[in-house]
Amino acid sequence: MPQVALDTPLFEVLGAKSAFLKRLERLGLQTVRELLWHFPSRYEDFSKIYSVAELEPGQQATIQGVIEEIHVGHSWRKHMSIVEAVIADDTGSVRAVWFNQPYVANVLKVGRRANFSGKVSIGEESDLYLSHPAYEVLHLADADSPGGGDRRTGAGRGMKHTARLVPVYPETRGLTSRGIRFVIEATLRRIAPLREWIPGSVLGKLGFPELDHAIRTIHFPDTVADAAAARRRFSFEDLFLLQIENIREKMKLAAEKAPAIPADLDDVRAILAELPFALTESQKRSLWEIIKDIERPRPMNRLLQGDVGSGKTVVAAIAAMLAAEQGLQTAFMAPTEILARQHFLTMKKLPAAARAVRRPVIGLVTGSGATVCYEDGLEESVTRPAMAKKVAAGGIAIVFGTHALIQKSIAFRNLGLVIVDEQHRFGVRQRAELAANAKKKNGPVPHFLSMSATPIPRTLMLTVFGDLDLSLITELPGGRKPIETKIVPPPERAAVYDFIRAQVREGRQAFVICPRIEPEETDPNAEGGADTAAAGRTALVKKLDLRSVKEEFEKLSTKVFPDLRLAALHGEMKGKEKEEVMRRFKAREIDVIVSTSVVEVGVDIPNASIMMIEGADRFGLAQLYQFRGRVGRGEHQSYCYLMADSAERAANARLKAILDAKNGFELAEKDLALRGPGQFFGEVQTGLPDVAMSALQDPELVKKSREAAVLVVQEDPRLRAYPLLAKRLQTFREAIHRE
Ligand code: ADP
Ligand code: MG
Repeated sequence: MPQVALDTPLFEVLGAKSAFLKRLERLGLQTVRELLWHFPSRYEDFSKIYSVAELEPGQQATIQGVIEEIHVGHSWRKHMSIVEAVIADDTGSVRAVWFNQPYVANVLKVGRRANFSGKVSIGEESDLYLSHPAYEVLHLADADSPGGGDRRTGAGRGMKHTARLVPVYPETRGLTSRGIRFVIEATLRRIAPLREWIPGSVLGKLGFPELDHAIRTIHFPDTVADAAAARRRFSFEDLFLLQIENIREKMKLAAEKAPAIPADLDDVRAILAELPFALTESQKRSLWEIIKDIERPRPMNRLLQGDVGSGKTVVAAIAAMLAAEQGLQTAFMAPTEILARQHFLTMKKLPAAARAVRRPVIGLVTGSGATVCYEDGLEESVTRPAMAKKVAAGGIAIVFGTHALIQKSIAFRNLGLVIVDEQHRFGVRQRAELAANAKKKNGPVPHFLSMSATPIPRTLMLTVFGDLDLSLITELPGGRKPIETKIVPPPERAAVYDFIRAQVREGRQAFVICPRIEPEETDPNAEGGADTAAAGRTALVKKLDLRSVKEEFEKLSTKVFPDLRLAALHGEMKGKEKEEVMRRFKAREIDVIVSTSVVEVGVDIPNASIMMIEGADRFGLAQLYQFRGRVGRGEHQSYCYLMADSAERAANARLKAILDAKNGFELAEKDLALRGPGQFFGEVQTGLPDVAMSALQDPELVKKSREAAVLVVQEDPRLRAYPLLAKRLQTFREAIHRE
């Protein structure tokens, strides 16, 4: 038989007529590589061979014996075939039963010797039998031959379904673990030895098994420890590649040209002196780090991270003003129009307070139109095309909008700085895209500043965001009181409503967050999406009887708070409608907003003092944390109520974590541990392979991968000595960017 390579399509291995092909395709497996990288989700330990006399009910056991009888029958309803066999060894005999697998009788013939692995069950007459055992017919060479391996363990004798650690795969309809094992085993037998691509120094230092050994071991390990070592190696692989990619991205960026933005420190001092407040220490430090970055003629790539309300916007805005002073434009992007408008308004006030610098012309681009605010503070509404023209001519220094700003048609004359608020929501791929789009052909690369209020666990920071430099705002502006947070079980709901009314009477405002929009159809986290996955989730959500914005709004405005002014806010509303609601809320024309996670990010309403979160256990920690940050932004004592619809839900570990955690970072670590990185990112695509995603929960491995990557790249930046590694990196990069 010809040898196969990793890129060989599976039809060449299995034959184009193989019934397996279609089924493997359903699992997304078309090449040898994809097949071999389809790892078992677990192993069943059938390694010890029991004698029939040793069998006990409930065991998972392997026996080896001769088939004494076999017959195919039908159940009384005639619907189901039943194959029954009697298997004997030196110590006795036992029955084995298979339902609906008539073909078993074609393989297991009387007189043949075979291994059977499965669960030992008790029959109606208290007799023992094996139900649906996996089986493997032994050829003469396998059974009892001298030197054929350990009599008591099947390992090392080519067994794949029985008498060993048996791999169990993520399955699909019509393709069982047995089937997958069969094709993988056949492929492994025919594949040429795989060449190691991880540098020997790295591999040796970390003690990981070599590729060829690891790929065989992960499928057919002799021991659990072997399987674990192989798996760790594969987790390491992806992290290692990611780290190398990050380091090289960083080096590449460092080689690019960016417009230098030298800051006149007297200007900066004057701006700060005229702000209505003093910057906190970490705001100052962050601003300083940004200034140091942008004054160099190579692109900044920095993440400004700080809790909600820690004052990131003002720091970024000052950077934008410094750019404007140098005649460079800034694109300032937010995930929603509400937020873009908020930043626009902040910016409008800022230079008015700081007379030290020229007032830049600023613009806001929305889905429907655009607004310009000139040097004299006067505003003008213009059409989007008119705005685009002004921006292209360099007439607008700072342009606010959603990320459509750069993705669509708006071309800048001399873009010097790109600021993205809440960038993690855009995902990693989009970030790269933004940066790429922002760069004009052959032109300089603009400086890039992302802002995020989501505390990102350290392991993620070092991997997914590993190419970014980090500035941290670690404290909240002075005078803010910690938010009182409580988990509320059902009997205390009325008391919360009373408290909301009392607060509103004192002039405060409240948010009520619901997990979904509609009573029945719509899923909260899939606003606008109606694919089948969402439909599936919807069914689930319906069962859980989650509170919806529409129902709660109805109930609260007619029954609970008929005397207060309420409004609903959710993702099905048009941008303009949402903005109108937020405007009225800000102007205190509304007392209580009933909303979905739309308010999750950034909205600044210092007068709001209550955040009530329905179905709180349905949200991730990071999200709850964001919600809570919507209040406590002014001088008033604020409150956060995590509503649980049952006592059981009130005992939820995640909710308890939010009460206990000292800060956002601690919470983020917990969230990652409790729910895994997929949940942490929610819908956001990271482009990371699954193995790498789960490896993120292993900080030790992340650290090792980083150290190894630094070592390799420092020693050989172009990876000249490691052509196989360079090739692997290329494939990895394509996979990430293709996502
Ligand atoms: P973030 O974007 O980090 O969530 P913002 O930039 O929206 O926070 O700031 C929240 C509020 O705090 C704003 O009203 C802002 O003007 C105000 N603020 C920012 N820095 C300070 C400070 N050092 N002292 C007092 N208030 C501040
Ligand atoms: Mg903000």
